[in-house]
Amino acid sequence: MSEQPTGPTGDDASRVRVFDTTLRDGEQSPGISLNKQEKVEIASQLARLGVDVIEAGFPITSPGDFEAVQAIAREVEGPVICGLARANAKDIEAAWNAVKDSERPRIHTFIATSDIHIERKLQTTREDVKGQVRAAVAHARRYTDDVEFSPEDGSRSNVEFMGEVIQIALDEGATTINVPDTVGYTMPDEYAAMFEQLYRLVPGLRDVVLSVHCHDDLGLAVANSFAGLVAGCRQVECAINGIGERAGNASLEEIVMLLRTRESSHGLWTGVETTEIARSSRLVSRLTGYQVQHNKAIVGRNAFAHEAGIHQDGVLKERTTYEIMDATTIGLEANTLVLGKHSGRHALKNALEELGFEVDGAALNTAFLRFKEIADKKKKVTALDLEAIVSDEMRQSASAFSLESFDVEASSVRAPLARVTIGLPDGRLVDGSFTGDGPVDAFFSAINAATGHEARLKEYHVSAVTGGRDALGETTVMLELDGVLASGQGVSTDILEASGRAYLRALANALALSSGARQQAEEAPRAAAAMTQTS
Ligand code: MN
Repeated sequence: MSEQPTGPTGDDASRVRVFDTTLRDGEQSPGISLNKQEKVEIASQLARLGVDVIEAGFPITSPGDFEAVQAIAREVEGPVICGLARANAKDIEAAWNAVKDSERPRIHTFIATSDIHIERKLQTTREDVKGQVRAAVAHARRYTDDVEFSPEDGSRSNVEFMGEVIQIALDEGATTINVPDTVGYTMPDEYAAMFEQLYRLVPGLRDVVLSVHCHDDLGLAVANSFAGLVAGCRQVECAINGIGERAGNASLEEIVMLLRTRESSHGLWTGVETTEIARSSRLVSRLTGYQVQHNKAIVGRNAFAHEAGIHQDGVLKERTTYEIMDATTIGLEANTLVLGKHSGRHALKNALEELGFEVDGAALNTAFLRFKEIADKKKKVTALDLEAIVSDEMRQSASAFSLESFDVEASSVRAPLARVTIGLPDGRLVDGSFTGDGPVDAFFSAINAATGHEARLKEYHVSAVTGGRDALGETTVMLELDGVLASGQGVSTDILEASGRAYLRALANALALSSGARQQAEEAPRAAAAMTQTS
C-alpha cells in the first residue's frame, strides 16, 4: 500500500538530517517559560525520538539559557548538541562553553544577509557583514570542527551576495549551511530555485550539508522545507508541534511523516523513530502550555479519527480506504500499560522505565505516593496517566510555591468565596481569601491575595488526560505579571487542585522570567537592546 518501511532503507545520500529547534526557536514563543529541568526532559525525549541535532538554546541570551544548554550537553547522549550564536566573539564563546561537554558539540552562528536587515536592523554594510562572517566562522572553528552558518533572512537576500557570504563561511570551514526563510515569505518553487542557483554560484556547497529552516506565516513551512529537500538540502530544521516565532516553524512530525509516507515517490528518509512522535508532542504541549489544535496534521486529536458514516464504514472494511498512515506508526496506541491500586513500587518503577523515566530513591517515593493517591480514586492508571503525573511532579519540584490547602464555596445564590493557604519558597505559610465572580476567579484571586502578586489571568484550559468520569484533569494557565507572560500546568483528579497548581507554577515562572530579564538588563543593557528576532 502507500506506506513504506522507515529508513535506513535508502542510500546515505538520500538521508535527511533532522535538526530540532523546539528548545531554541520554539522556546522563543510568547508565554513559554521552560526551566532547566524541563528542557533536559524535552531534550531526552528528542534523543529517544532519534533526531540528529538538538538546538538546545541561545546561550548568550541569559544565564538560565546558558545553564540549560550546558545541562543538555552534559546529560543527553546521541544527537549533536548545538548552541546558537550571533556572529561575534562573545556569543560564540558563550555557545562553545555551553555545548563543549557534549560528545558531539556544534556551534551555529548567523548574521542577516538581506539588504533590509543589513541596513535597518544591523545598520551596517554588505562588506562589514562579510568581515563578520569570516571572523565568526573562523573563531567557531577554533573550538570545534562542527560549525553551522546561517545567512538570516536568506530567502529575501540578494542571491549573488548571499553566495559570496556562503563562500566565505565555507572558506573558513563551516560544515553546514542553513538558508532560512526567516519571515515565512517564500514559496516552494521559489525556495527550490534559490537553492539551485546557490549550487551554481557556490559549487563547494556540494561538499557540505545544505539546510532548510522555514516559518509558517503563510502556512507553507512544511511545503517549502520539502521543496528545499527535493532541491538537494539534506538537513531540515523543525520543531515539535510546529512551535516557534510567530506562526511557528515547520513541524517536525509533519515533515518526518511526509518523508516516510511518500518515500517511494521521492526516496528521502530520516532516522527518526516515529513511534515516539505522539509522546514527544504530548510532552512539549504539556510543558510549554501550547495546546495542539484538534485538526493538526499527524498529532491533532482528530488526525486519525473518522466522523462521517461513509468514512467509518470504509475504515472498518479496510483501514487504507481512508487512512494513509497507521496510528501505531506515530505511537498513538503503543502504550497499553495499565496499573491498578494494588500495583507495588516495583511495578511502578518498571512501568516508568518502560516510558523512559529513570526514577530512583526519593523521586520514586514521591511518584509512588502520588500514584497511590490517584489509584485510590481511579480504577486503572494508564501510561498516559503516569506520563502526566511524572510531568506534574517534575514541575512541582521546580515550583517556588506549594498549594497547602484550599476551600472554595460556590453556589447559585451567593458570590463564590475562596480561601487558600500557600507555602512560600522560604517555608512560611500565607493565607488569602477572595470573593469573586466565579469559583475559579475567586480561587486565583485568593492566591494573588496570599502571595501579594497582582497577576492577571490570560488563558485557562481544562482537559482530560484519558476518557472516563474518573479521568485525571489537566489544566493550563497563562497569566501576565508586570508585562511578563508565563504558563503553568497542573494535573489532578480534582480539577480545582489542578487549577491551583497550574496557577502557582505560572506565577513562579513569571517571577523567574522577570527577574532573569532584570538581571540581563542590568548586566548588559546594550546586548539586551540588540537582541532581536533571529533566524
Ligand atoms: Mn526561525
